Amino acid sequence: MNGVRDMPGSVWPTLRRQLRADLPPDDFRTWFHPLRVASEDAEQLVLEAPNSRFVAALEEGFRPVVDWAIADLKGPTFQVLFKTSDSVRPSGRSATASRKPLTAVVHEEPAAGDSLNPQYRFDSFVVGNSNRFACAASQAVAEKPGVAYNPLFLYGGVGLGKTHLLHAIGNRLRGTVPGKRVVYLAAENFVNDLVTSIRFDRMPAFRERYRTIGVLLVDDIQFLAKKERSQEEFFHTFNVLYSRQKQIIVTSDAQPRDLADMEERLRSRFGSGLLADIQPPDLETKVAILQRKARQLQGLELDNDVALFIARQVHSNVRELEGLLNRVTAFASLSGARLDLDFAKEALRDVLPDQDRPISAAHIVKSVAHHYGLKVREIKSKSNSRQITYPRQIAMYLCKRLTGLSYPEIGRLFNGKHHSTVMYSVEQIERRRAGDERLAAQLERFTRQLG
Ligand code: ADP
Ligand code: MG
Repeated sequence: MNGVRDMPGSVWPTLRRQLRADLPPDDFRTWFHPLRVASEDAEQLVLEAPNSRFVAALEEGFRPVVDWAIADLKGPTFQVLFKTSDSVRPSGRSATASRKPLTAVVHEEPAAGDSLNPQYRFDSFVVGNSNRFACAASQAVAEKPGVAYNPLFLYGGVGLGKTHLLHAIGNRLRGTVPGKRVVYLAAENFVNDLVTSIRFDRMPAFRERYRTIGVLLVDDIQFLAKKERSQEEFFHTFNVLYSRQKQIIVTSDAQPRDLADMEERLRSRFGSGLLADIQPPDLETKVAILQRKARQLQGLELDNDVALFIARQVHSNVRELEGLLNRVTAFASLSGARLDLDFAKEALRDVLPDQDRPISAAHIVKSVAHHYGLKVREIKSKSNSRQITYPRQIAMYLCKRLTGLSYPEIGRLFNGKHHSTVMYSVEQIERRRAGDERLAAQLERFTRQLG
């Protein structure tokens, strides 16, 4: 995820995986995620930490955990040394980046940034009615950063291409505007960076880092919800960049005024520029996306009827569309068979709901309620307790995915819930599923049982 790559053949990725499994996620993220391999041989792995207090804290708090993890790998033993960046690499970039003149960091991955995906470009983005405006606005901003629309606020549901567009802007700017520090950042990492900086008294460096940015691309700003300190810090960063006419582009799952648990002053800043939403793609766009992806990723011309069949299986999420495409093309290339409509149907049979036997919504609600120890009456109730809302969201999600019912129809099933509530629930579960393997597995099980 970060700009620095692991050394080829390094033992660090394996050890890191072990540590990730052994430690609470927060500890892992705070203490091990920032480490980089400084050098390595058969006996020794030297890891570079941001500063000497970091090294001391690692020694004090995590030495035994690291040794156990090495033992658990059951490979040849080796020693891990922690060093600060100044002591291993006197001329190292991370130690000196903040002191370098701005022109020296051109095209370099800034200290506080995630890398750009080179595949996410404008020319690999399929434009349709659902995303035409957002795409045009993004291109305008990439042509004239800081001039045309500032900030640009892109919003829409899960898997509709927000991150793709954000990277496309970044890729275009990194390629064409020399001397600008173009920083792409998941909002989550802004929070992580802030937490680490507070803990190590490095706030001046933190502020410096963000305020010398030329173009700031922030993904999934809704992640700052309820995080007051992060919102405050982001607000200040925003103001500094904005007043210096630096371009800011933000993505979110909702438009500014619907961002729950976000300070009013931030929402009004976001709303002050250009808002562009992305809607679910229509059938033609979905077909075009499938054909473009097949050509681009597999060098394959997808038959129209095959593309149409796949497109019909997915409501909106383009990532799911890609998942089905990958499954079909993988099956085809493994078996050497020609990818025609029958083949596609066969390849997707296990992952799609059975077309012949429609699943009833009542059956879904009953099964989900039962699984979570609730009565049907409870899961349909208006109660907002978490024990009930979460299963209810899952039931709504499954109704949407497995039956042909519309959002308002599902809402009526649940005691007359508004269709936007159903939509929100479906998106919530969709989003969680992407990052939560246990939920993903549970949904799989439900789907199989119900099918
Ligand atoms: P979001 O950030 O809105 O959740 P992403 O940008 O991550 O969605 O998109 C999910 C996947 O779908 C990515 O692989 C992206 O390339 C692809 N995708 C989405 N919209 C389009 C489009 N219009 N053309 C091509 N690919 C798309
Ligand atoms: Mg995204």
